[in-house]
Amino acid sequence: MKKQQNLRIIPLGGLGEVGRNMTLFEYQREILIVDMGFRMPEEDMPGIDYIVPNISYLKGREKNILGVVFTHGHYDHIGAIPYLIEKIWQPNLEIFASPLTHGIILKRQDDFPNLPRLNITEVKSGSRIKLGPFRIEFFRQNHNIPDNLGLLIETPVGNILHTSDFKFDSHPVNDLPTDFQKLKSLAKRKILLLLSDSTGAEEDGHSLSEKTIEKNLDEIFQHSYGRIIAATFASLINRIQQIITLSERHGRKVALEGYSMKTNVEISKILGYIKSKKGTLINGREISNYPDSKITILCTGAQGEGSAILMKLANKEHPFLRFKKGDAVILSSSVIPGNERTVQMLKDDILRQGVKVFHYKMMDIHAGGHAKKEELKEMIKIMEPKFFLPIHGQYSMLVAHSELAKEAGIPEGNIVIAENGKIVNLNQKRIYIERETAPSNYVMVDGLGIGDVGEVVLRDRQMLARDGMFVIVAVVDRKTGQVQGSPDIISRGFVYLRESKELLRETRKKVIEIVNKATGTGGAVNWSYVKDEIRNKIGQFFYSKTQRRPMILPVVIEV
Ligand SMILES: [Zn+2]
Repeated sequence: MKKQQNLRIIPLGGLGEVGRNMTLFEYQREILIVDMGFRMPEEDMPGIDYIVPNISYLKGREKNILGVVFTHGHYDHIGAIPYLIEKIWQPNLEIFASPLTHGIILKRQDDFPNLPRLNITEVKSGSRIKLGPFRIEFFRQNHNIPDNLGLLIETPVGNILHTSDFKFDSHPVNDLPTDFQKLKSLAKRKILLLLSDSTGAEEDGHSLSEKTIEKNLDEIFQHSYGRIIAATFASLINRIQQIITLSERHGRKVALEGYSMKTNVEISKILGYIKSKKGTLINGREISNYPDSKITILCTGAQGEGSAILMKLANKEHPFLRFKKGDAVILSSSVIPGNERTVQMLKDDILRQGVKVFHYKMMDIHAGGHAKKEELKEMIKIMEPKFFLPIHGQYSMLVAHSELAKEAGIPEGNIVIAENGKIVNLNQKRIYIERETAPSNYVMVDGLGIGDVGEVVLRDRQMLARDGMFVIVAVVDRKTGQVQGSPDIISRGFVYLRESKELLRETRKKVIEIVNKATGTGGAVNWSYVKDEIRNKIGQFFYSKTQRRPMILPVVIEV
């Protein structure tokens, strides 16, 4: 076989969606992996916890994996590690991450004690590593979590710049301002291909500085006399720091609620990324020891996540906390596409309890961590890449970003829009999408199962959720082939049995007719045929009577 001279870039997640970022760089069969994230399920995926990248492409190629590099500690970049790492594991697997990312990854591994221990090498801005044909230099990028690293990847075909998630910020919190000099010096080394974060590509202007957000948050603190309940992602370390700083400024104690919030703050404090005065952080149980005006509750759930603290408060299910009049809720995180409705309902539920709600749309209390149009164009202009590949975002964001690239002077033929599973082929002269694809269908995580819930199981769940289920148990006399007595019926989520006596009477009659007809002729009885008949005929009958299609489960017992 002829040796491959081109570089192949294979996005397994994060292109055509927000979340579950993971990209492969393959040169002469050697593979570098960047990020392994997960995303939240869609609304029509009952029971699914997460969706993780499909790594079937790596099957049989495990030995060719040179290492894994992580850009930052957000779960859409690291969250899939516990679910995927065993499949690519080898004792000398090299993993690279910045100190905070490292800390967050290891802390999460604690929840999965059976997994192999990860050996992570810490890298910082300026670190250089070599993995097979790839040389990688890390450089810091502003985002809404500290210790976020962009990558300059030197490959045999040319230099690739991976921005990671980023925004330009001249007044960040807990972080240094964007180092444009550094970016320009990277550009001097000639960028063949730029991979840039598209999350904010549909939004005009420039992202807000973290400093502006702090000012707006401060205003809320100034005018609040009750408790402040600030909900955000546990991984928005900068936002958490701002809330803590503001609370200290306004004489408030801060109680952390939510497992991921507590653990992330704990790691960040140990590593020095979150700073608080002694005595600021208190236990949730101590809240009642202080007047309301002296309390901030920092919790998870700004996306309306079902299991998060804010949802428990809204549903009055929290073990010891309830909303009360005078409370102010701050929802400080931008809404991930697909979660809009859930967040709207949550907001209404909170307002109904007489609580004020501040949402990032009403005031600029959340900048998002992502560069908007002006910054994205600026990044392209600084890097002056020959080729451009938008990454991280819904399809519409990738398209919007490619428009920006054109405006910034990249010829249309030098821009490719790729989705998950596409294989992008690159050399000095050309970039194109290969005809071959890598498997990219969803791999769903449900409890301890990874990928075992597929399309069929999901369809059953959707059906059960829509129209419920209906179980018919018929006892048949082996000798006569006749149904004994009246078939038993169990219904869940279809009709309320007590109010549907007539429907059930007719159903029983029909089942007896179907069974007796099928067994009446004598000879061997094909029971699977009988069950199919019950399913079909009763299904039609239900539809004609109710316009519903419950899942019908016939059970025939011979005695
Ligand atoms: Zn991020």
